[in-house]
Amino acid sequence: MGVVALAGGVGAAKLLRGLVRVVPPDELTIIGNVGDDVEIYGLHISPDLDIIMYTLAGIVDEWRGWGVTGDTFNCLETLAKLGFETWFKIGDRDMAVHIARTKMLRDGLRLSQVTSHLCRMLGVKARLIPATDDLLRTKIQSGDRTLDFQDYFVKRRTADNVTGVFFEGADKAEAAPGVLEAIRSADRVIICPSNPVLSIWPILSIQSIRRELEAFKRPIVGVSPIVGGKALKGPADRVMASLGFEASAYGVAKFYHGLLTHFVIDSVDWECKERIEELGVRVTATNTLMKSLEDSVRLAKTVMEAA
Ligand code: GDP
Repeated sequence: MGVVALAGGVGAAKLLRGLVRVVPPDELTIIGNVGDDVEIYGLHISPDLDIIMYTLAGIVDEWRGWGVTGDTFNCLETLAKLGFETWFKIGDRDMAVHIARTKMLRDGLRLSQVTSHLCRMLGVKARLIPATDDLLRTKIQSGDRTLDFQDYFVKRRTADNVTGVFFEGADKAEAAPGVLEAIRSADRVIICPSNPVLSIWPILSIQSIRRELEAFKRPIVGVSPIVGGKALKGPADRVMASLGFEASAYGVAKFYHGLLTHFVIDSVDWECKERIEELGVRVTATNTLMKSLEDSVRLAKTVMEAA
C-alpha cells in the first residue's frame, strides 16, 4: 500500500506539497534524484533532495525556489573575500545542512540514512529516499565538451547546447534500501512534473528501478512539466528539443513510453490528447500551474483520482 513519487527539484516539490495534504504522509515515499549532487568546499550537496526536504518542512525560500527562507549569506561572502569561487549560492542555514550531511557521510552513514535523519530532524513526515546511495552523476555533453551538471546548470546558466547526456556510475548503481520495496508495494507511482531528461532520467538510469517500474502492474501517473510547448522554469524544453524529442506534453509522454499508464497535461495542451492516447496512455487535461498551495492540492487530487 502507498504512493511512490519520482522527483526532481522545484516542479516536483510543488506537487509534493499538495500530495502530502491528500495522501497520509506516512504512506508516501519520494524517490529523489541525486544526479545533480555536487561537492563544493568539500561539502556534499544534494540540491534536489534539499528542495524537497525544505519544501515539506515548510522552510523553502519560495521566491528563489531553493535554499531556506530568510537565510543570510555571511559564510559565502566571507569565502568570496578569501578568494573562493561562489557561483553556487549557499545560505548560512543551508550550509549547516551540507556540513551535517558531509559529517554523517564521513562517519560512514549512507546517503539514504543521512537523508532520513535530516528529514526527521526538520519535521518531514513523508519518506524521502535518494534513488541510490552509490555514485551517480549527470554529465552534459555539448559538442566535444563534457560538463559536470552544476557547471552546466548553475555556473554556465544552461547556455550550452546539450547534444548528449549520460549518467556516470549508472551501470553499477544499486537502488537505495527501501526504493524497490516501496515501488513493489505501491498502489500507484507518480512521475512528478520535473525535467524528464535532467531530473527523472537519472533515476530511471538505475537498472533495478527501471525494471521494477516496467513490471509494475498498477497505475503510473505522470504530470507534464511542459505547458504549451514551454518549460515553466529551466531548460527542459530546450534540452528535449536538442536531444531530438518534441518539446511538448506529447514529447514527454513519448519520453516515458512503456512506463506511463496515465498522463495529466495542461488544458492548453488539449490538442496533444489524441496523440498521447495513441501511445496507450490515458489523458486528463486540467490546469497544471501551481502558483499557490491550493493549486498544488487540487493537482495532487487530480493525480490521485486519475485511473
Ligand atoms: P529542477 O531540478 O529545479 O530543474 O526542477 P525539476 O526538474 O523538478 O523541475 C523543472 C520543471 O518543473 C520544469 O520543466 C517546469 O516546467 C516544471 N514546473 C515547475 N513548476 C510547475 C508547475 O507549476 N506546473 C507544471 N506542470 N510544471 C512545473
